[in-house]
Amino acid sequence: MDHKELVELDRQYTMQTYGRFDVDIDHGKGATLYDLAGKEYIDFSSGIGVNSIGYGNEKWVEAITRQAQKLGHISNLFYSQPYARLAKSLCQRTGMAAAFFGNSGAEANEGIIKLARKYSFDKYGKGRGTILTLKNSFHGRTLTTLTATGQEVFHNYFFPFADGFRYAEAGSIDAIQEVAGHDVCAVLLELIQGEGGVYPMDPAYVHDLAVLCAERDWLLLVDEVQTGVGRTGSLFAFQQYGIIPDGVSFAKGIAGGLPMGGFLVNERCRNVLGPGTHAATFGGNPVSAAAAQVVLDTLDEDALAKVREKGDYIRARIEHMGLASLGQTRGMGLMIGVEVKGDESNKVLAARLIRHGLLVLTAGPALRLLPPLTITMAEIDKGLAIMEDVLI
Ligand SMILES: *Cc1c(COP(=O)(O)O)cnc(C)c1O
Repeated sequence: MDHKELVELDRQYTMQTYGRFDVDIDHGKGATLYDLAGKEYIDFSSGIGVNSIGYGNEKWVEAITRQAQKLGHISNLFYSQPYARLAKSLCQRTGMAAAFFGNSGAEANEGIIKLARKYSFDKYGKGRGTILTLKNSFHGRTLTTLTATGQEVFHNYFFPFADGFRYAEAGSIDAIQEVAGHDVCAVLLELIQGEGGVYPMDPAYVHDLAVLCAERDWLLLVDEVQTGVGRTGSLFAFQQYGIIPDGVSFAKGIAGGLPMGGFLVNERCRNVLGPGTHAATFGGNPVSAAAAQVVLDTLDEDALAKVREKGDYIRARIEHMGLASLGQTRGMGLMIGVEVKGDESNKVLAARLIRHGLLVLTAGPALRLLPPLTITMAEIDKGLAIMEDVLI
């Protein structure tokens, strides 16, 4: 099959919910991908922050193969090693108390929303189920997480949306106080707003927010679906902010490309969701869990230090290119936003880069770079050379 035949097949039989770029991807190795015609692409996108340890990682392939041969699925009504071992690794490396595994980011966020409402219900009874979220946030595509998302453009078509969310301007404790009330049980935020445009939260604001949550007995919920699993140069971004969330969700990068999501809770929340209150048929699937174990083992302290170094390097190189179309960079580790200047939109610039062999993403008004965390310096330099050649 060639590219044209594939596009026709896709258009005829799949729901056209994605505005796809006119590129197909067939296979990959490291941070380099190839299309059906054999053309090479350097990947600064990792799916969308998913292929955390690149493509075709040998340990990852081997762990998946071995686990698939042994046991491909088992109900969560039974104990199984990959689930428990992965939970132990995550807890030991974060100081959190316990883990729950589901299948996606939105589902993980639904889980921490349920956590907060149950925590509050158990302690205070009904009428305290409202969650405060931030403007310009993104929390997922299910009906509840769409409502949690603090962007008006997402609150369309699918009426009626759920009650129980209010929105505050990011970065301002006063804004939180203004929408607070006796019905609130939690604040949910991203430490770097990803889809919104790669906007890191100010550490002083996050600290003050944590203090306010403690005072009001609101749960502090952190959506690390994009920032988690090494992306920012620590296993979770909250570890660089010096806070301990009550609940933290993760997904994208956790299993290096297989579907998995979940959340961690701290000591005081470990028993909030008891038997029968939460479940996921596929959650913590042994093959995904075995893959995630390899991802965590690969992302040791040394690898995380390299994530920070590579991020600094990419940002410095882009800023020194002095391109008229690109401005300042922002972000942490290998989660990088690049401001777009001039007449051409981020979408136009991204399409041109992709056509010339560099996969990038957009977010809000910015270009967004999320390379595999294991990308080599040679691949980075190749990608940056394409950027310098193709953009003005
Ligand atoms: C991608 C993303 C989600 C949604 O994850 P899905 O796996 O697509 O459901 C939620 N929150 C944040 C911060 C994300 O970046």
